[in-house]
Amino acid sequence: MADRMVLAGARVVLPTGVAENGRVTVEGTRIGGHAPADAPSVDLSGHWLVPGFVDMHNHGGGGASFTSGTAEDVLTGVRTHHGHGTTTMVASTVTGEMDFLTHRAGFLSELVEQGDLAGIHFEGPFISPCRKGAHSGELLRAPDPAEVRKLLDAARGTAKMVTLAPELPGGMESVRLLAEHGVIAAVGHTDATYEQTVEAIDAGATVATHLFNAMPVLGHRAPGPIAALLEDERVTVELINDGTHLHPAALELAFRHAGAARVAFITDAMDAAGFGDGVYRLGPLAVEVSEGVARLVEGGSIAGSTLTLDTAFRRAATVDALPVEDIVRAISTNPARLLGLHDRVGSIEAGKDADLVVLGADFTLRGVMRKGAWVVEP
Ligand SMILES: [Zn+2]
Repeated sequence: MADRMVLAGARVVLPTGVAENGRVTVEGTRIGGHAPADAPSVDLSGHWLVPGFVDMHNHGGGGASFTSGTAEDVLTGVRTHHGHGTTTMVASTVTGEMDFLTHRAGFLSELVEQGDLAGIHFEGPFISPCRKGAHSGELLRAPDPAEVRKLLDAARGTAKMVTLAPELPGGMESVRLLAEHGVIAAVGHTDATYEQTVEAIDAGATVATHLFNAMPVLGHRAPGPIAALLEDERVTVELINDGTHLHPAALELAFRHAGAARVAFITDAMDAAGFGDGVYRLGPLAVEVSEGVARLVEGGSIAGSTLTLDTAFRRAATVDALPVEDIVRAISTNPARLLGLHDRVGSIEAGKDADLVVLGADFTLRGVMRKGAWVVEP
């Protein structure tokens, strides 16, 4: 019989609401059912117990890059984020040569098959030169469905999401292709109009890549992608809650308008997350991180974040004053559903993986459990 442990006394955030003084049983790697009274128990009184975080947009951490690092580097990045409560994450790539990206897809797919990553997110190269952010301009290309197909094939079933600009030639066709293959078509790094964005959603796009960032602003005569993505019930909007990418009022506007069921908190983290200031590379470009803000050395564009999801949670609870149940949906449940992993992760329910985060009353991270083993002991 698997080892049994009871986590007792915490305020547990369940799909049905908050259970005061809750008891959660861990049986081996899973969340179990009822435990005998003599099972060893860990006292978590005065703490919150929430599901492990799920990050659907993450480029690396701990000094390591998912786009360019060795397998050991990628695992360093993964473990760094585990230590901050993210128990499930995809690896996001940045724009590169097609040959490089297809090769990288094959390499990362092995780490997905081993269970270290939950899938691959291709951010670029099919994005708009007008909204390239920290992607290298000369490597951008229009979204050719045949090339999109090549990336999916190279990823051998592990591609979860492709961020693209649907207004470019081949854009709508590529969105349809992704939707047909069960891969998320995400609208981002885009210069699309409101009408083009509506067309992309009708073609099957279901995610807004870091809403507000790398897209036209919301204008009263040209509402652009932001209005189209926020208003459509079929779309989930990614938000980077680091206090740099978004003003708290913009975050609140998105959260109120989309509702907690249609928001996904992401990090968009690069190498410096959980590591420190310094000079890094994001794909082929140099990035300087100063006081936790990553900017391109050339041009000064914001270049990903140094955010970890424990900080995003704390900000959401303390700065944005969002209800804890809503934060849990945005940081665990919704991304798990989008990635097709909701039968395993994303909520505290019997039979799911014992991926759990312990937070103090002030929402600072106190403990992390992944598949029944403590990564950070409370
Ligand atoms: Zn990104």
